[in-house]
Amino acid sequence: MKRTLLALLVMLGCYVAHAQQRDTLAVVPAGADSLAVERGVDSLAVGRGVDSLVTPADSLRVEPKVAPPIPVKPVPTLGKESVIDTLPTGNPALSIILFNNNTWRYVLSEEYKRDSKVFDDHWNTTTTNPYYGVAVESLPESTVIQLVDSLESYHYPYKGNMSSRYGPRRGRAHQGVDLPLKTGEPIYAVFDGKVRYSQYSSSGYGNLVIIRHNNGLETYYAHLSSRDVEAGDWVVAGQQIGAGGSTGRSTGPHLHFEVRYCGQTFDPERIIDFTSGELRRSELLLRRRHFSIYSKFDQNFDDEEEVAKQEEAERKAAAAVQYHTVRSGDTLSAIAVKYHTTVSRICSLNGIKSTTTLSIGRRLRVK
Ligand SMILES: [Zn+2]
Repeated sequence: MKRTLLALLVMLGCYVAHAQQRDTLAVVPAGADSLAVERGVDSLAVGRGVDSLVTPADSLRVEPKVAPPIPVKPVPTLGKESVIDTLPTGNPALSIILFNNNTWRYVLSEEYKRDSKVFDDHWNTTTTNPYYGVAVESLPESTVIQLVDSLESYHYPYKGNMSSRYGPRRGRAHQGVDLPLKTGEPIYAVFDGKVRYSQYSSSGYGNLVIIRHNNGLETYYAHLSSRDVEAGDWVVAGQQIGAGGSTGRSTGPHLHFEVRYCGQTFDPERIIDFTSGELRRSELLLRRRHFSIYSKFDQNFDDEEEVAKQEEAERKAAAAVQYHTVRSGDTLSAIAVKYHTTVSRICSLNGIKSTTTLSIGRRLRVK
């Protein structure tokens, strides 16, 4: 075992030295048998994060160039404690992580990642969304996000069919996708990154892990039965971060999975094919309008009118909301008559039963 590792390290040393002579970084996928395989070599491209928010491109309206959508296969799965060592390379930006099954993978060095503003800006380990105050209107019209660099570190969070997709659902915004599972099944980090939040969230998420990634995105893993990482932990794609469950506001074991950019959600299917488990592309052209709850990845509308119309309808619906403050002598049926609605409608709007005692001063939604 030790000799194998030693031999592997010697080979790696040569390999890295060789790669550096050419002034480029050769990247190979994890797996000792792939040592001999040299893949497409580029200089190491590092994900652009929040920094890229401030671009003058808005006024220019130049269509950004984005790489064609070539799917990226997931890296091999890692167990909970499979990383046995991290080794430096001749390149300060890169480390090698060694796994207990004798495979290895290049990752960005932690020192290098620490220098990245991505892990400083709006960093908060106690709140689910630290980007309050960042209005969607302040985001650029479009942003090119390099989802994975040449290391192609990507893994699906959970592979399976969705029971619920991104979009409006029963009058609420469903800001992620739901993937039914059996309680206890492993959930994996999607990209390399740092755990920003790992807590039980009382806002409905239940046990929630949020990871900030080198590429500037955040991924949310909710309703977990257990969490295997803590805020501040560095994680790599394919590392188990917890187990699926049904904690929080959930009607059965499933993973609720969200992807956010600067606190704004967008359809996770824009980047991940949950059935095949592949990343759809290595570069994503993210438009501001994609942050609308009505914007789905398979909607082929390029006209913003469609979205604008739907948003207008939503605004009108929101404006039509009415409340009634309970006064002495009020009954649900009297209130229902007054507002031309029904008792059952009022009950469902407020999550109460027809037998619930109405306390004076309580605000009831009636429309
Ligand atoms: Zn959900």
